[in-house]
Formats: sequence, structure tokens, C-alpha cells
Amino acid sequence: MIRNIALVAHDARKLELVSWVKFNAGSLKDCTLYCTGTTGRLIGEALEEVLGNEAPEVHKMLSGPLGGDAQIGAMIAEGRVDMLVFFCDNLIMQGHQNDVMSLVRLASLYNVPFATNRSTADFIISSPLYRDPDYVPIIPSCIESYKNRKL
Ligand code: PGA
Repeated sequence: MIRNIALVAHDARKLELVSWVKFNAGSLKDCTLYCTGTTGRLIGEALEEVLGNEAPEVHKMLSGPLGGDAQIGAMIAEGRVDMLVFFCDNLIMQGHQNDVMSLVRLASLYNVPFATNRSTADFIISSPLYRDPDYVPIIPSCIESYKNRKL
């Protein structure tokens, strides 16, 4: 079951993410949201507009270029994120491109449901597993093996 969702969008795709959030506001209302700073401000405003005082809590991390992507990556490594929606700008490199790549790597490593575009985000949020209390993602065995590796 998805409870803790991280949402990040680069400037060129913030409106696309806000539009997705408004469309899916009903499915997000019982979740806790974690966002990079500017994305979080826009999403918080959009959810308040649609849901009023039923809007979910939006935790704003630092802005992406100032370390927000790295903070969300660390939350993934700590098992605190159930789903990531990350709309990256695919046309330009970011000043914090290393952090962007790190976030993508950690979401992949920790088997976090992870959308980089709207269609994938729609498929995840409309999956029966999204609300299934019995569904727990498998932690990849390579993580335990790595912790116990012989040196
Ligand atoms: P922002 O950061 O939401 O603070 O703009 C997004 C990013 O660049 O990763």
C-alpha cells in the first residue's frame, strides 16, 4: 500500500506535475507527500485549491539544486518512500545533475515504484496494488548481500 509519496519536478515540467496532482487529488488525500522545495509549494497550493482542509500534508525539503533531491534520495535509502514521481527535464542538464542521477539510482536500487512521466504515474496510481494493504515491495537481495559482503 502506498502511503508516503515523493514528488519532484524540474521547472519545465512543474505544471505537468501540478496538473497530474490535481487530477489525482482524491487518491493522494490519505498520503503524506514529500517534495523538493518549489515543487512542494506549488503542489501544496494546488491541493488546497482542490481539497481545501482535506488536503494532505506536504513536507517541503530543500529546493532540488540546494540538496532537496539528495534529501529525498536519503529517505529512499532509509525505506521512508513508497512511491516516487520525478518529472525530470529531459532536454537540459541540471546544475545538480549528479543529485538527479543519484535519486534515479536509489529509486531503482531500492525497488521503489517510480514514474518519470505522466502515463507511468497514472498506471501506478490506478493499480489495485496502490491501495492493497498486503502488498509490500520486495527488498532486493543484493542489498542484504552487500551489507554482509566479505572483505
Ligand atoms: P524544486 O527542485 O522543486 O525546488 O524546484 C526540483 C529539482 O530541481 O530537483
